Amino acid sequence: MGGPELERLIALLAKLPGLGPRSARRAVLHLMKRREALLEPLAAALAEAGKRIRTCSVCGNLDSTDPCTLCRDERRDPAVLCVVEEVADLWAMERAGVFRGRYHVLGGSLSALDGVGPEDLAIPRLVARAREGQVREVILATNATVEGQTTAHYIAERLADAGVAVTRLAHGVPIGGELEYLDDGTLAAALRSRRAL
Ligand SMILES: [Zn+2]
Repeated sequence: MGGPELERLIALLAKLPGLGPRSARRAVLHLMKRREALLEPLAAALAEAGKRIRTCSVCGNLDSTDPCTLCRDERRDPAVLCVVEEVADLWAMERAGVFRGRYHVLGGSLSALDGVGPEDLAIPRLVARAREGQVREVILATNATVEGQTTAHYIAERLADAGVAVTRLAHGVPIGGELEYLDDGTLAAALRSRRAL
């Protein structure tokens, strides 16, 4: 319809979460209408991000430096680790602005159905990190889904003899709820009322 370049762009955009072929088409038309204001800055930002953004080798966050800004922040308490499934969850915690410790991003949750085991996630690295001696508490902030709960229990078992307190987000996280979609207040309450696991 619009030449191979446009079709390719539409096909790529349609792979983004929340976008289908129809909205991808609309987005592309919108970009073409606003070349200078949108298309060119977007292309430059994508190229820049692709070149510079790395996964933090310590916590799994995304940043242009490794270790990331959060890991290098001396004001953050290295004794408390908050374990989340995805970077989006870490960002949700940061948006809520209630946590002043460090993070550990797992990269997903355990799922026998999808064949995701501990070695596929950053669990071995978490266990090693928890045993380094600096860590006193590990807060398991995985989603309140079946997979998230399973993952939390598995990690708690692995950390049973690590000499650290293992806690879990408590009230406020609805069953089946994903951290990313919680409002800041709910997330703050859940963190405050965390309990031993
Ligand atoms: Zn980091």
